[in-house]
Parts: sequence; C-alpha cells; structure tokens
Amino acid sequence: MPLIIDSHVHVFPNPFESGALSTGPLSDPIQKARQIARRWWKPVSASMHRTQGFLRHVPESVRKKLDAVSGIVPLPGLLVESTSADLIQSMNESRIDYAWVIAHSPLMPNEFVMDLCSRNPRLIPVVNMPQKASKPVQLLKAHFKRGAKALKLHPAADGEAPDSPRYRKLVRTATAAGVPIIIHTGCIHSRLLFKDPEQSRAERLVPLLKAFPETTFILAHMNFHDPNTAFDLAEKYPNIYLESSWQPAEVIGEAVRRIGAERILFGSDWPLVGSNLSIGLSRIRECVAAGTLSPEESRLVLGENAARLIGLKVEAHAT
Ligand SMILES: [Zn+2]
Repeated sequence: MPLIIDSHVHVFPNPFESGALSTGPLSDPIQKARQIARRWWKPVSASMHRTQGFLRHVPESVRKKLDAVSGIVPLPGLLVESTSADLIQSMNESRIDYAWVIAHSPLMPNEFVMDLCSRNPRLIPVVNMPQKASKPVQLLKAHFKRGAKALKLHPAADGEAPDSPRYRKLVRTATAAGVPIIIHTGCIHSRLLFKDPEQSRAERLVPLLKAFPETTFILAHMNFHDPNTAFDLAEKYPNIYLESSWQPAEVIGEAVRRIGAERILFGSDWPLVGSNLSIGLSRIRECVAAGTLSPEESRLVLGENAARLIGLKVEAHAT
C-alpha cells in the first residue's frame, strides 16, 4: 500500500465530547443518529463535489450568486461529520495514514489543533495566526517549537492582501524555520465565509512570490474556479506546490502534465464536503486509470511529497 497523506483537513471541537451531551441519557442516541445521518449525507456531499466542477464554466456574474449558496450548503454536514473521532474513522475507511490538520481561528484555534495532534501521531498540526494576536512572530515560533509543521494563510478570511506587512513577517518566520506555507487560493464569492474573497485570487500572490523565492508555498485548492492561473504561477515559480482539494481528475492530470507530479499534493478539505476523503482519493486513482498519472507518480502525489515537505520518514506507515 502506498503512503497516503491528506494535506488539507480541518477538525472542529466536539460539542458531544464534554458536558451533558457526552454522558447524559442522550449521548448514545445522538451518536447513533449521527452515524445514520452521515450515510444520508454522503450522496448530498458527493453531488456538491460534482457540481463544483461545472461552476467554473458559468459566467462570473452568475457564479457570484451560486458561490454564496454553495458556500453554505456543506454546513449541515458538519453536524454529522467534523470531529477528530469522525476524521480517524474516515481515514481508516479510506486507508489514509496521516492528515495535516489546519487551524482556522476562532472556530478551530491553534491550541485546540496542537493539543489534538499531540495526542494522535497520525494528525499533523498546521497553525494560522489570528489578526488580533499580539506578538504574532513569537507566538508562531513557539508553535513551531511545539511541533507545528506548516503555517496557513487565508487572505480571503482575513480580508488582507497576501503581501501585507503582517503576512510578510509571518512568511519570513516560517521560512527561517524551514516550514512550508499553505495559502488558500481561489475567489469564492461568499461574504458569509470570507471578509474579502478577492484577496485569495492566486495572481495576487505575485509580490509575495517575488519577495520569497526560497519559501515553499502550497496553493490550496489550486485556485479553485481558475486553476490555469495557479498552473501559470507554478510554472514560473519552482517553489510553488499545488494541493488537489475540490479539483476534478482532469484538472489534477493537467497540473501533473504542466508542473510535474513532484509538486502536487493530495488534499481533501475534509469535512467541508462530507465524503470527500474517498472522493478526493478516487480522483487521484481516476488519473492513474486515465493514464495522466503513472502509478509511481501517484505515490508522490498521494503522500511522498507531503512527507518530504515536513520531514516525515516515509517508512513510518501508520496503518
Ligand atoms: Zn480548508
């Protein structure tokens, strides 16, 4: 079995883990109901994933409206699939060895993610830095010291330009620590989820890319609706990696053709679309079946690239 690392997941604090819901008379029925609901939700989440591939082809004016709706459709799924126990179950079902768990404060704070990952060696912590954090550089260094393996920047959620002085300081700190940086890319027109969606257009990264040629940048979602711009950038800047979540097999195949399998990472963005661990994986396998990815190249995409970026020993199979 190849090593499989999902380089993009989120975990939400479990509302059922403490308090009355965890031990009271309702705890068992709640867990059973979640398991049943999860089965019902799979076809819904699978169809959302299919729809996403078409959205990029509609005019931007129409897509703006559709993005706003599609941004909230996955939210009910979080009730049935979003906790660390759900993640481990999903990883086991899909035979995924490790997952990079990405913090997103305030919903998923750094401390929560660091704690969770320190208790489970299959989960690898990725921190982000809230805008209101005082002494962000010291804080970031402390997280790296405790074992954080990557930094996440989310210009759309922060409503901040990718080359802002604050981001530059964080990028400098991560680069000095030899830590890769994951950046959300893709303009998804959802004001509910993002302060300023435009800030995550991949083309806006150019000043940062020019300023930090030694930094490893991972473009999450391959710029979502507009992967060609991500490919253009990755061709020009060899320090860019592309992460596959939300992209159909033909786009992943095109990414491999244009920039090579060595710089593509498998990621799912679990649990934002419930069944996407298996869907994301099946897309890599579709590429192998279609011949756009050789079996050897698929091993790089599925896990070996991600292991290399964070210095994880490839032999260290968890399952
Ligand atoms: Zn994400």
